[in-house]
Amino acid sequence: MLNTALILGSTAATRGEVADCLDKTGLVHRKLYCKDARRAIRWLSEHNVDIVCCDWRWSAVDDVTDLMGVLRRRTEWQDLPVLLFSSGDERDLWMAGMEIGVSECLPMGLPMEEHRIKIRWHLKNRERIHALHQAQSQLARIALTDSLTGLYNRAYFDATITQEVARCSRRGLPLSLLMVDLDHFKKINDTYGHLAGDQALAAVALVLKEQSRISDTVCRFGGEEFAVILPETTNANAATVAERIRKKISQLDLAFPVTASIGVGSAKVTNQLLPDHLIAEADGALYEAKSQGRNRVQSSVLGAGVVSDLSLFRKFRTAMASA
Ligand code: GH3
Ligand code: MG
Ligand code: MG
Repeated sequence: MLNTALILGSTAATRGEVADCLDKTGLVHRKLYCKDARRAIRWLSEHNVDIVCCDWRWSAVDDVTDLMGVLRRRTEWQDLPVLLFSSGDERDLWMAGMEIGVSECLPMGLPMEEHRIKIRWHLKNRERIHALHQAQSQLARIALTDSLTGLYNRAYFDATITQEVARCSRRGLPLSLLMVDLDHFKKINDTYGHLAGDQALAAVALVLKEQSRISDTVCRFGGEEFAVILPETTNANAATVAERIRKKISQLDLAFPVTASIGVGSAKVTNQLLPDHLIAEADGALYEAKSQGRNRVQSSVLGAGVVSDLSLFRKFRTAMASA
């Protein structure tokens, strides 16, 4: 493992003393030097630094305190080990260092072997924390995405629509939701097999991703149903997007034709609106699209102050699920 150390010291001589301590351990392969916190932050932004080593004396307190303040606020630098090297072993100076949250204070005069053991421990600890963070983000990705299509899953949809309803309501902005349901998908599975059905779902997911904006959220709602949240989008604009999606799906180059029906539900969000109202609106429009022959887009706008009857919506969903 090649390690990079950032060395902070106000003079070339003090930086050199810290560098000597590191060189003797053989653990550091690249050294970056800086004389103040500002330069230190710049190096950190431009390079992958594994450990920060500072010359430590009373005159360095302000600079190291500034640096620590930035490091502990920024998630990517929060776990970076920071070691202070002092020329003596003044307890008060060490206490001041520990007070600002550094990892350890080391006298420069310690035997090399002791420096090596301590620095190696901090580097290993950083590696362990890094691996944990990576595992954590991988788990979060798995928990929030659908493995077949790579789209966000229902849990992510639920959290996002709640957030968007609250945000658009605060700012009086429009919000639209597309509910996309593949037509006669059961027949496709029955005729061509589930694997072919899976490929069609993945291809449709790609269309949805390609046809939506970064600010939109594309999710697999469940089974062969998808949902696209379009913040700050009027019904007319959302219907245009939906029509583009419908057309692209029908033009997919698969071994069999695939079409989708799309319901567009929109609202100028008020604080009475619940996410379920918008889902019910889009679902109602989807139901219309299905009953009018499928492979089409239907839109519906929730009037100001008017909210859908959620008990009807729930009955409708249960009926759809058991149909
Ligand atoms: P409609 O036009 O009314 O929507 O008819 P439909 O056949 O699409 O609707 P229905 O709800 O009867 O059937 C949905 C089908 O979607 C049944 C189910 O097997 C299939 N399906 C759901 N999830 C998956 C999946 O992950 N992979 C595959 N291959 N099929 C799936
Ligand atoms: Mg369905
Ligand atoms: Mg369907």
